[in-house]
Amino acid sequence: MIAHRSAFFLFALAFSLGDLHAAPLVILIDPGHGGNSVAGSLKERSNSSPNNATTPGGLKEKDLTLEFSLILREEILKEATKQGRTLGVMLTRETDVNLDFITRAKSCNRPDTSCVVSIHFNATDGAKASGSLAVIAAKDRNQDYEIDKTFALGLVTACSKGVRDYLPNSKDMGTIHDSHLHGGIGSNFFFQLQRQPHLKSKPKCFLEIEFIDNAAVEKALLEGDRAGKFRTIAASIAGYLVSATEEEARRKE
Ligand SMILES: [Zn+2]
Repeated sequence: MIAHRSAFFLFALAFSLGDLHAAPLVILIDPGHGGNSVAGSLKERSNSSPNNATTPGGLKEKDLTLEFSLILREEILKEATKQGRTLGVMLTRETDVNLDFITRAKSCNRPDTSCVVSIHFNATDGAKASGSLAVIAAKDRNQDYEIDKTFALGLVTACSKGVRDYLPNSKDMGTIHDSHLHGGIGSNFFFQLQRQPHLKSKPKCFLEIEFIDNAAVEKALLEGDRAGKFRTIAASIAGYLVSATEEEARRKE
């Protein structure tokens, strides 16, 4: 069960004098999927499916993305406080609802956005894969390709490091392009994000934490103290995100 929280948006309270010159940046976390029905439409390229991957034991990706994202927010704020930084974290959803991609993209479209990370869990034919990967918009339709690629590679490496505490053979699978989606036209979420004026030159990617249709992954990563395991992985990711956001804040000064 996820406790309901009314505040969508939390800032780390600690800040240092050095931060006073830079407006606090906000990390946007999008917990993939949600609810029980499709949101948006194919025609508008805004359709978000309620759930994709399911574990052999019946856990749903949409619930795990939300559980993980709520923990990730806490870990980012903890890491920011530790580093004496001011930054915000915002989630596109905090309950079991599905939002279409126009709504999700618009809530990411802030002048102070640092980056957008959409959290997912993966599944594949054969249900034997194990690894973390990021999806970015393919080069031919992505003006920010190099920015996205550099960011996503660092993000996956941080994620994979945390996952391997529980799954030593889990692979760092790096980044893939979104060309496998929708018959080659790519992700509709990226399509909507790219239309938002404040998100130009801001890194955006999907992070696929592990393949949850694999029974061995479910046992090692999702059974027992799942919140504790998610916290380890989230802390590793948070370390990367806070550092990446600091570099961006410096560039803006
Ligand atoms: Zn997904």
